[in-house]
Amino acid sequence: MARFRPEELPVNPVDLTGLDAEAAAGRLAELIRIPTISSRDPAEVDRSVFERHRARLAELYPHTHAALEREQLGGGALLYRWRGVTDEPPLVLMAHYDVVPVAGQEWSRDPFSGSIEDGYVHGRGAIDDKGSTVAILEAVEDLVAGGFAPRRDVHLSFGNDEKVAGVGARLAVEVFRTRGVAPWAVVDEGGAVVSGMFPGVAGQVAVVGLAEKGLLDVELITTDAGGHASAPVRGGAPARLARAILALEDHPFPARLHDVVLGMVDAVGRRARSRTARCSPTPRGCGRCSPRSSPGPAGKPARWCGRRSPSPASRAAGRPTCSPPGRWCT
Ligand SMILES: [Zn+2]
Repeated sequence: MARFRPEELPVNPVDLTGLDAEAAAGRLAELIRIPTISSRDPAEVDRSVFERHRARLAELYPHTHAALEREQLGGGALLYRWRGVTDEPPLVLMAHYDVVPVAGQEWSRDPFSGSIEDGYVHGRGAIDDKGSTVAILEAVEDLVAGGFAPRRDVHLSFGNDEKVAGVGARLAVEVFRTRGVAPWAVVDEGGAVVSGMFPGVAGQVAVVGLAEKGLLDVELITTDAGGHASAPVRGGAPARLARAILALEDHPFPARLHDVVLGMVDAVGRRARSRTARCSPTPRGCGRCSPRSSPGPAGKPARWCGRRSPSPASRAAGRPTCSPPGRWCT
C-alpha cells in the first residue's frame, strides 16, 4: 500500500500578479449571455447571434485583435495568427464558441444569464467551451499588452459548429494544409476540474484529456421481396437488420489499457484512500467516530466514522470531521 501513497512534491504557487480574475469572469459571463446555439439544421442557427459574439470578442480583447491576424472560415470559424520571431512550426490553441441547446433541461440558473456567484460563473458554455476561449484570449491579451513576442507562430482556432460535428475545424486544417503549415503542437479543450469521478479519490482532480473517443455512423440497408402482412416471412429484412445491429453490439473494439490510461490509473490510485485509510483530519473530536472492533491492521485501534456527511451544525461550528466519512479509520 505504501507504494501507492503519493510522493509529496513541492508545488510553487502560481504567480497571479496582474491577473484580474473578476474582470475575466465578467468577460466570460458576457459571452455566455450571447446564446450561440448550434443546430444540425442550418435554418435553426441564428447567424446574427454568432456575428455578435465574434464582434464582441474583438471589443473585449482589443490588443489581441490589433496584433493578431484574424480570418473567418466558412460560416463563422475563426482562425488567428500571432506571428512568432522564428519560423519554427506553430502552436495551435483550439476552442469553440457554439453551445448545445437548453430546451427540455432543468437549470438552477438561467443558462444564459452568466450569473457570477460564490466564485463561479454559471451558464451554458461556461465549461464547454467559452471558458477555454476566454482563458486563451485572456492569456494572449495580457502577453500582447506586455509586449511579448512568441518564439514560434501561435494560431488560435475557434470553431463555430463543434457541437454538431461541423466543418469549422476541418476548414482550419485545410487552410494549414494549403499553406504548408504543420503544427508543432495542438491543444484543444480537454478535461475539467472534477470531484467524485474516481472512486475513493477525495477532493478535486484536474483531468487532462489526451485523446478523444471517436464517432462512427453506420448505415445498414437490407431489402426483401414484398409480401402480405397475413403471411409474414420469418427471418426477413427486419430480422436481418436486428441481427446485424446486435452483431455490432457484440463486437466492440477490444479493451486495452495503454500507457496514458495506465498512467492516469497510477496517478489517481496513489491519491485514493484505502479502506483503512487514516481519517483526515483525525476523527478524534468529530463526535461521530466510535470505537469498534477493527477490520484494520492488527494491534491498531480503529474507529468507525459512520456518518455520511457532517451535520450543518457541526460544519457551522467548525468541528473537524472524518474525510471521507463512512469508513474504518486507523
Ligand atoms: Zn466542447
